[in-house]
Amino acid sequence: MKYKILLVEHDGSSLRVLKRVIGKANLDVVTATTLTEAKIIFENSTPESFLCAVVDYALPDAPHGEAIDFAIASFVPVIVITSQTDKDVRERILSKAVVDYIPKSNSQIYEYLSRLLTRLEKNRDVGVLVVGGNTRSRNDIYALLNRHNFISYQAANGEKALEMLNQNPHIKLIITDQKLPDMTGVDLVSKVRKTHTKESLSVIGTSEKGDAALLANFIKSGANDYLRRPYCHEEFFCRILQNVEYVEQIEVIKKTANTDYLTKLPNRRHFFAQVEKIMHSKPQSVSLALIDLDYFKTVNDNYGHDFGDVVLKETARMMQKHFAQDVVSRFGGEEFCVFLSNIEASAAKEKLDAFREAISEKSFKYKDQQVHCTLSIGISHKRTGKIESLLSTADEFLYKAKARGRNCIVDE
Ligand code: GH3
Ligand code: MG
Ligand code: MG
Repeated sequence: MKYKILLVEHDGSSLRVLKRVIGKANLDVVTATTLTEAKIIFENSTPESFLCAVVDYALPDAPHGEAIDFAIASFVPVIVITSQTDKDVRERILSKAVVDYIPKSNSQIYEYLSRLLTRLEKNRDVGVLVVGGNTRSRNDIYALLNRHNFISYQAANGEKALEMLNQNPHIKLIITDQKLPDMTGVDLVSKVRKTHTKESLSVIGTSEKGDAALLANFIKSGANDYLRRPYCHEEFFCRILQNVEYVEQIEVIKKTANTDYLTKLPNRRHFFAQVEKIMHSKPQSVSLALIDLDYFKTVNDNYGHDFGDVVLKETARMMQKHFAQDVVSRFGGEEFCVFLSNIEASAAKEKLDAFREAISEKSFKYKDQQVHCTLSIGISHKRTGKIESLLSTADEFLYKAKARGRNCIVDE
């Protein structure tokens, strides 16, 4: 779903630039040039369908930020843009429950807006858990997080926090006070680290009057960051974003390291890790299949390398569909591997043969021609020994399948 942004701006040239910036963040823009127009828009559509509103501080019919109050009262997060950069206006804006304010001072600022909007959209899937014994300060943080579209949770003590963390795997950040009724924040961090690494879950420790020793203690116990109260709104969000982005970037790196670039299937290394995990659980039965496209060099020679790539990608896509319950991988080149567990040898063979048949019946489009490809499969059903020995047996049978004329399956 593409989210909508309400843009309220009177100045024609700013409106054009902002529309382009918001479009760049892949969001739909609905524009209003006055507060009156904005009101009409919200009367005719549900305000909840808007990701946020980008509002100019001064409009002809709302010279002192009245449009900001209106959007906030409609429960829409607000980003303020303003050409007035004096301290008074800045403070007046920040005293309202806005997401952020952006002075129209230079072009860099548009880049920032684009990033902020992308972030607001992503935050809808990010869980943040606030832990603290003081209800008021917990509620304050909770409200700030909601303003940025995070899925926020609250826990009044350490035990409750651990319970909520286990129930909500999308929590990427914990903000904990040092003072908790049943343990210290530092204790909570060290308990959390027994199950969640620093790279998969960020923790920020906070305290009222932190001394240098407490900061060090939090970090040594596994916290990613520390915030001393009172902190200003802007500092708070910079830290939150930095720590959430850290976890997200590690996720991206991990995914890239485990994925084959062309087909997006798990790569050989990731395949081995997954299979090893299953082998540890001592499955009732296992089957490992090596799949190799037939005469693929000729396919490349006849139709070009790009067409070869299309065939590989489409084969991978079909593989994911046929083997949704199993572990699949691109092993390299035009060779794939499937690992099936807790399925009878005969049933595994049938499943693989159905895939072989599906590929042989498929036509790949090349210009106005229909091209057909086939593949050969070798399967090993050995339950004991290492993956390497399963693989070498499967390879042996694949070789036999090739020798038998290809487009066939050979197993024990
Ligand atoms: P066989 O039936 O015996 O398996 O014959 P084959 O031609 O498929 O086997 P061979 O090992 O001789 O050739 C494999 C070909 O796969 C050669 C290589 O150019 C091609 N290939 C490997 N990786 C890629 C890729 O990422 N994209 C494309 N388009 N081709 C690839
Ligand atoms: Mg081949
Ligand atoms: Mg090959």
